[in-house]
Amino acid sequence: MSVRELVVLGTSSAVPTRHRNHNGYLLRWDGEGFLFDPGEGTQRQMLHAGVSAHDVTWICVTHFHGDHCLGVPGVVQRIARDKVTHEVRAAYPAGGETYWRRLRNASAFADTDVITPRPVSGELTRWPAGPVTLTARPLSHPVQSYGYRVDEPGGRRMLPGELERRGVRGPMIGELQRRGSLTLPDGSVVTLEDCSAPRPGQSAAFVMDTRLCDGAFALAEGVDLLVIESTFLSGESVMAAQYGHLTAAQAGRIAAAGGVRCLVLTHFSERYTTADEPRFVDEVRKAYSGEVVTARDLMRVPVPKRSAEAGG
Ligand SMILES: [Zn+2]
Ligand SMILES: [Zn+2]
Repeated sequence: MSVRELVVLGTSSAVPTRHRNHNGYLLRWDGEGFLFDPGEGTQRQMLHAGVSAHDVTWICVTHFHGDHCLGVPGVVQRIARDKVTHEVRAAYPAGGETYWRRLRNASAFADTDVITPRPVSGELTRWPAGPVTLTARPLSHPVQSYGYRVDEPGGRRMLPGELERRGVRGPMIGELQRRGSLTLPDGSVVTLEDCSAPRPGQSAAFVMDTRLCDGAFALAEGVDLLVIESTFLSGESVMAAQYGHLTAAQAGRIAAAGGVRCLVLTHFSERYTTADEPRFVDEVRKAYSGEVVTARDLMRVPVPKRSAEAGG
């Protein structure tokens, strides 16, 4: 069973509140589990959310402000304690290597060797990650910050009507898919292109602390699911620019420009309460008309299916 969903572990910027934990997001994608920005308390939030250390295959840290990484020690030690045997790769800005090492080895524990570091530098980094490609691009924040996206490669979907019309049935379909073409009993040749249509892969992006910047737009381009910080409303746009954050209106502009299908807002300043959530949606709506979710802790958001393109 393939599961593609975002498990929200925490949604607060800077400091946790009574209703919001520090950041933390597990993107479950078939057998992979990308744990983005484990803030303080992530280990316990995982328990509440019903996900375990065994579900984590990547730890992706956008930057080394505490709300995005103070949970690393707990998660790292839980991976060791629970005897996770698969490799867990850890991506983080190379400029924060000192912080990574401290967090990775924050206190005494019986360590294992499954966690392998993948420090990120430069304008574009790509890794194969199971069924997807993981990409990192730089963001704009007072400390070095990277956003991430995952992309499933495109494939093809078979068109039953075309197969039927050309008399391709049963085991012949599998042969056509394997070989790309097929010679029929009457001598005519049918190609895979004749009987199928391109099926774009699904994708998701994770854009945390940043000002408006090229990297944020590039990460969001064409994704099905965009998880993005919207620390402030536009009334605080001067402060947002000063501290390197987005307003909800700016997050909406990024989503609109990228043609995003589902937008998840998070990383809210503690000055706002859940009663303010409709104001975030109102700001987004000035630019973006797609689905909007204002994230709350322990929420699960499915990666939207590509049913429209697949023809149902
Ligand atoms: Zn933050
Ligand atoms: Zn930050």
